[in-house]
Amino acid sequence: MNITEKTENNRDSQGRRIDYLRISVTDRCNLRCCYCMPKGIKLCEHSDILSFEEIESVVRAFSKEGIRRLKITGGEPLVRIGCPELIGRLKAIEGIEEVSITTNGVLLREKLPELKKAGVDGINISLDTLDREKYERIAGFDRLGEVLSAIDEAVASGIRTKINTAVMKGINTDEIKALAELAKDRDMDVRFIEMMPIGFGTDFDTADNEEILERLKAEYPTLSPDESRHGNGPAVYYRAEGFKGSIGFISAVSKKFCESCNRMRLTSTGVLKYCLCFEDGTDIKSILRREGLSESEKELLLREEFRKALEKKPKEHCFEDKNKISEKKEMFRIGG
Ligand code: SAM
Ligand code: SF4
Repeated sequence: MNITEKTENNRDSQGRRIDYLRISVTDRCNLRCCYCMPKGIKLCEHSDILSFEEIESVVRAFSKEGIRRLKITGGEPLVRIGCPELIGRLKAIEGIEEVSITTNGVLLREKLPELKKAGVDGINISLDTLDREKYERIAGFDRLGEVLSAIDEAVASGIRTKINTAVMKGINTDEIKALAELAKDRDMDVRFIEMMPIGFGTDFDTADNEEILERLKAEYPTLSPDESRHGNGPAVYYRAEGFKGSIGFISAVSKKFCESCNRMRLTSTGVLKYCLCFEDGTDIKSILRREGLSESEKELLLREEFRKALEKKPKEHCFEDKNKISEKKEMFRIGG
């Protein structure tokens, strides 16, 4: 099999190259962020969650259709026992060039050595505030201290580290400068992500990244576009003089970037999702668990479903018209 040749075929119906898969490994989490998984939600049955072997089978099959980079997400991926080991196993699959993780950082310090050993290529840490009480109000638990020390250890480990801040009007817009300044003395990017109207995110007003950029430009007149490549996503980066890291903006609401979309999502219960905005997806688990199929037969079916998914992937999201958003699941269930 010629993997390079296959890469040329991973175009969707819009001609976009789809080489990036976000894999949710659990719907469980050790925090209860108000916009994602507030207290009192119901979780799925353990038996519905894909096993590591099943995830590997999917990645092996999809890598033959041009998937090159993976993001491990959740829920909180580090609450799943063996998550670093899974990363190592996925990295060993032919064709997979990069495996990174997004985490709330609570368990990161203790898992860092294993993640490093597994060869993780990047760590994104979610952090919406530097205020301890506010952190507890947003995330449900007093864990800011652990997260801040994990951030410093992640940077010191030499693994590419990024901070992701979900921006909410009236909640954390007063902390933009303080959060951006985390990138001043640390070799790490800080990214502002507009709150999307998905799940409990619909209860919050996103801040506008354009306004955040203008405010930061007023603070740092040298802030200017940073064209260097920072990862696989749609973030637009800026750099200010004297900063070690860059400031990124992911503006899914105010500036659609669907024309350069490169991704699909695999939920923890084995649904291949084409777009965050719509509930449509392919039930991959039923192929993985179908009785009487050999591994190679399953692989062929998985590859076929991936190719069909390329055709089904919508042209763009419709966050601007909430009535058209058909995805009703919460972010922790989808895999953010
Ligand atoms: N638990 C991990 C974490 O917090 O990084 C991974 C899963 S979490 C769902 C992934 C990211 O999605 C977090 O950075 C979170 O802030 C973000 N997120 C959750 N709901 C969102 C929404 N409605 N709009 C934008 N980002 C959201
Ligand atoms: Fe958990 Fe991440 Fe959702 Fe917060 S955003 S509840 S940390 S999955």
